[in-house]
Amino acid sequence: MSATLIDGKAFAAGVREKVANATAALKASHDITPGLAVVLVGDDPASEIYVRNKKKMTEEVGMQSFDYHLPASTTREELLAKVDELNSNPEVNGILVQLPLPNKDDENIVINAIDPEKDVDGFHVINSGKLATGQDGLVPCTPLGCLMLLKDTLGDLSGKHAVVIGRSNIVGKPMSQLLLNESCTVTTVHSRTRHIKEETKRADILVAAAGKPEMVEADWIKPGVVIIDVGINRIALPEGKSKLVGDVNMEEVAETAAAITPVPGGVGPMTIACLLHNTLKATCIQHQIPFPLGA
Ligand code: NDP
Repeated sequence: MSATLIDGKAFAAGVREKVANATAALKASHDITPGLAVVLVGDDPASEIYVRNKKKMTEEVGMQSFDYHLPASTTREELLAKVDELNSNPEVNGILVQLPLPNKDDENIVINAIDPEKDVDGFHVINSGKLATGQDGLVPCTPLGCLMLLKDTLGDLSGKHAVVIGRSNIVGKPMSQLLLNESCTVTTVHSRTRHIKEETKRADILVAAAGKPEMVEADWIKPGVVIIDVGINRIALPEGKSKLVGDVNMEEVAETAAAITPVPGGVGPMTIACLLHNTLKATCIQHQIPFPLGA
């Protein structure tokens, strides 16, 4: 295999260490301990695992963690009342409502009820508007993590042709915006794109976020491309076993790509690290203190 593996696990540990040091410094200089509140509604097993990991890592970097596990029967009004309460709590600097919600129709309403300065997921229309217009705000964690890995691998991204597979509000769209803000030439492809391989073959940077197991094969890429594989797909193996794979067929692209993130161990660990980065940033915004870790 000639492609370099981009070690997201190690990079994420470095981000968490920087956040932990800056959190300790904030405590020493201003007597402020950042607080992250996570609201989980219902009993989705995958969401419960994410929330447990978030709590553990929040405490590891020296922040306060507030957890609220509400029953699936929680009404929109009850959920909005919880968000309101957290908006007014000065100990809570970041609010994350774990998606998906049992009632999909509640999602935009609840996200847009969060104080934009506490919106550590970066999904509020104010923050997505800031990203779209190149203003400083809170950026969605997964695309932010992808950008950090790309800058670490390639340095200046200016002028590169980036192709993003996927246009969701949480990954694809903000990823394309971030790359555009870095002066890349950006193509966003999706399920209705015609001749998708002709688009992906032009990429210097390929971000795959479709949620389709091992979709990207050797004839989708050009030599030397740097690939960020956001996809997390569980596929069945014989004897009732299963494994996680990305949206990229690793074996197929290994000889042609310059670098690629593995699944697991690539983008996944960056998402929680960026959530902690955003919680520190939100705390600094609320207290009008310069953010010590850059954008
Ligand atoms: P969504 O299902 O919301 O979006 C998928 C996007 O991919 C859509 O825009 C869809 O197009 C597009 N798409 C689907 N099939 C194809 C195809 N065959 N060809 C081209 N485009 C296609 O998913 P998310 O954005 O939420 O997540 C994407 C993947 O990333 C998932 O595997 C998810 O598990 C993973 N993920 C990983 C995270 C991490 O921390 N590593 C965090 C978040 C997500 P259209 O809009 O036309 O339907």
